[in-house]
Amino acid sequence: MNQSTNPSAHPFRQPLARGMTGAAGLTGGWRLQRPVLDPAKCNGCLLCWILCPDGVVAKDTRAIDYEYCKGCGICARECPRKAITMVKESDYEQNS
Ligand code: SF4
Ligand code: SF4
Repeated sequence: MNQSTNPSAHPFRQPLARGMTGAAGLTGGWRLQRPVLDPAKCNGCLLCWILCPDGVVAKDTRAIDYEYCKGCGICARECPRKAITMVKESDYEQNS
């Protein structure tokens, strides 16, 4: 982990974006894949919270706001514990 992605190096850093209804509406409808969190694997490092470009990961629980998550996959790619898995929306809907 380098200096720029080490959360302890940025203890007060907050996501710049916040999910909210804008001209594009509920952008979660754009998503082809859904990030699914396995809380048992999560160590609370907060990289997903820091790096999510849409600011839709909750800092306290790491819950993802699926109304605005676009499914970019950055959180899953960067999670050091592989606690987030990208699942095809069609598979998720069939299994839920
Ligand atoms: S990046 Fe992974 S391990 Fe870190 S808080 Fe997010 S889900 Fe948990
Ligand atoms: S898939 Fe992208 S938009 Fe959705 S929670 Fe992860 S980083 Fe944020």
